[in-house]
Formats: sequence, structure tokens, C-alpha cells
Amino acid sequence: MTSVATAISLISRAEAEASSEARALGGAGASTCGADLAKGPWEFDAAEALRGLPAYGPGASVADAAPRSTPRQGQLPQEYREASEDELRARITAAKEALGERVVVLGHFYQRDEVVEHADFVGDSFQLANAALTRPDAEAIVFCGVHFMAETADILSRQDQAVILPNLAAGCSMADMADIDSVEQAWAQLEAVLGTEPDADGRVPVIPVTYMNSSAALKGFCGEHGGIVCTSSNAATVLEWAFERAQRVLFFPDQHLGRNTAKAMGVPLQQMPMWSPRKPLGGNDAATLLESRVILWHGFCSVHKRFTVAQIEQARAEYPGVRVIVHPECPMEVVDAADEYGSTDYIRKAIAGATEPTVFAIGTEVNLVNRLAAEYPQHTVFCLDPVICPCSTMYRIHPGYLAWVLEGLVEGEVRNRIEVPADVAATARVALERMLAARP
Ligand code: SF4
Repeated sequence: MTSVATAISLISRAEAEASSEARALGGAGASTCGADLAKGPWEFDAAEALRGLPAYGPGASVADAAPRSTPRQGQLPQEYREASEDELRARITAAKEALGERVVVLGHFYQRDEVVEHADFVGDSFQLANAALTRPDAEAIVFCGVHFMAETADILSRQDQAVILPNLAAGCSMADMADIDSVEQAWAQLEAVLGTEPDADGRVPVIPVTYMNSSAALKGFCGEHGGIVCTSSNAATVLEWAFERAQRVLFFPDQHLGRNTAKAMGVPLQQMPMWSPRKPLGGNDAATLLESRVILWHGFCSVHKRFTVAQIEQARAEYPGVRVIVHPECPMEVVDAADEYGSTDYIRKAIAGATEPTVFAIGTEVNLVNRLAAEYPQHTVFCLDPVICPCSTMYRIHPGYLAWVLEGLVEGEVRNRIEVPADVAATARVALERMLAARP
């Protein structure tokens, strides 16, 4: 139902139908956010090779450009690019059968259906990393998600297990907005302004907190500097943990998760300055930083940034009584206007737990929303954004790449292994363990 091709056919149908009917079909409203959605992702691998610069391809609603350090995939062999959907399905199924318990395939909630159908586990990034731990006999963990997720799985899995990302170009534009060099520079400037000595209560001037959606290097930075990792489910608990130990927090890379969480905890907006990595002191003066409680990195998710208050008003006009739930990566005004906000897990549970037929307008990635709509036909579930705009980086994982890595394993070849250097993994694990130990 939610393959890009299917989504596009839904759009054509929707053009001839009333918008409310189209929404009931699963968010297929007026258009897609890019004609490129009809292309195979390998066309971007080829374009990148020609231009020498990686980019994230279709669905990049703010023209995301990947940094030069982003791994490049290289061209997928022709037989996989030209195979039909049915042929790829058969080849993936056969390879998985041949590999048996030797492989576990993980599918992120935002992944397209043609990939998710082959997943042994479906979930968010941290659920999937933990799910992989339940399969200690698997020699290979194929992570159908994005780069930072595969890194986390590698950090948490056994050393002899190979974590594989089917398309190396599946990065995350938000994670790439905070790189280790910029964060280290920011840290040095903050130490110069704030000092390093604890106050009378033993709280250090600042603690780094990174969202799970960040590189292993940043998780390692947090491990090394007394900091911690958070997810969209536990961000408030993690901030409480940090405030017990520090006067303020440097939160990266997602400004919206940081702001929405801290605001709900009562931190005034004027004590949450933004840190713009290219400006001295992040674009702030020293007094503002000294007064701050949460310093927000200038990062965002280009998928969740698309949601607006106008979309919520439109949904309420069309469906009086609609339950509007958005993800905390959405801008603050959208979260404020919604009825509820929460992680993908929260959204799933809210829909699953509704005992009466309910209309849900959801502000998160369209593949997940459409899957929930299909899973809970007793409810009307649609994406707040009428424009189909899947996560452009998840889009880079196509069944062709999945077939290619699985058949490689059958032949004894590990393709696209993601390996976090041992020193980085060690400190990143410290920050992850602090998160696991943090209790509300
Ligand atoms: S939805 Fe946003 S945060 Fe999640 S992987 Fe895609 S770009 Fe990154």
C-alpha cells in the first residue's frame, strides 16, 4: 500500500476524489514533494558518482545536501536495478531462507512496505538495536534504516556480528547537521565562557545530551564528557538526569525535540538559546549563554519540519473531533496546537488503544502513518501533511539493495558492513548505558 509507486497511484486517484476521501486512503492528498519519487534510488547513486557530491535525493523537502563525509553507495549491479518487484521479493525470500538463523533483518517504522515485509523486527531505531540482541546467533544484522541506526546496532551487538546497511547512502539529514568537529568547537567555546568548575551543589556548568539520531562519534563525545543519549520517548527523563548533574545542557542535533521537551518541563524559552555552529559563540553573547538552561543545536528533521498549524486547522475543519497527534521533532507551534505529542511508539499505542472508532490526524513520516491506517481499519488515520513526502534517506533502501546484500551473504561476502571504531564505540556505550540507567 505504501510503496512509492503505490503512493503515486493513490495520488492520481485522489485527484478525482474529495480530499477527505483521499485522506482516508492514507494521506494521499494533492501531490508529492518531488517528481523524483518515481525514480529508483540507484539513479541518485549514479548522479552522485557523476557530480562527485552525495545528496539525499527525493523527498528532501528543504533540498538536504549530505556532507562530503557521507559514505557513497556506488552503483547497484544492473540485475538488481532492472529486476521487477516480484523478482526481488522472490530473491530476498530465497536468500533469507538459505541463510536461516544466520541473518536477522530489521525494518524501521519509516521504511517502505516492500522492504518492511521482509523484516524480522519492525520498530524505531532503539527498539531495533535491542531486538537484534535477541538474536545472538545471527552472524549478520541487516539494518533497513539509516546510517546512525546501523552504528548503534554495531555498538550494542557482539563484535563478531556484522551490521549491514543495504545502501550506504542512507544517512540522516538531521544527524548530519551536527558533526563531531562542530560540536568539539562549540564545546571549547562554551568551556571558555562557562568555565569547568562545579557550582556549590556540585553541578558542572554544562552537560552534552545527544538525540539517538546522531553519529556514533557524537554519542562517544557525550560518553567522554559526562553526557548522555536520549530518544524521543525518554527525552524528559534524560533532561531531568542532566539537570541533576549540570546547570545547563547542550542539546544536539534536533532543536525541536530539545525545545519541546524542555518547554514542557517548565524551562522558559528565553533560557533556550540556539547554537548556530558557523557563528562565534553560536550566534549568542556570553550573558545569554550564562543565563541559559538548554542550548539548542541548530538542527532539525526535514520530514517533521513540514508539519504546520494550518494543516492541523484544516484537519479539524474537515473532521470535527479529530485527534491530532504529532511527533516531538515537529516545530513547537505545531506541538502546541496538537492534542497530543509523542514518539512513534506513543503514536502507535495511542491508535492501538483507542476503543471507539476514531479519526486520527498524525504528524509523522507518511510510511508509518499509512501502515497504521492499514493496520487499524476501524479508525480513520491520515497524515497531517497532504503532500506525500517520505523520509528521503530511508527511501534510499530499496528491495534491490536488500537482495544484493542478502545474496552477498549467501555467497559468503559481507557487503556494506558498518563498523564503529572500538574507541568510539566504548565511549558511546557509556552514554547509552547512562540513558538506560536513567529513571523518571
Ligand atoms: S525522518 Fe528525519 S530524523 Fe528520521 S531518519 Fe529521516 S531525516 Fe532523519
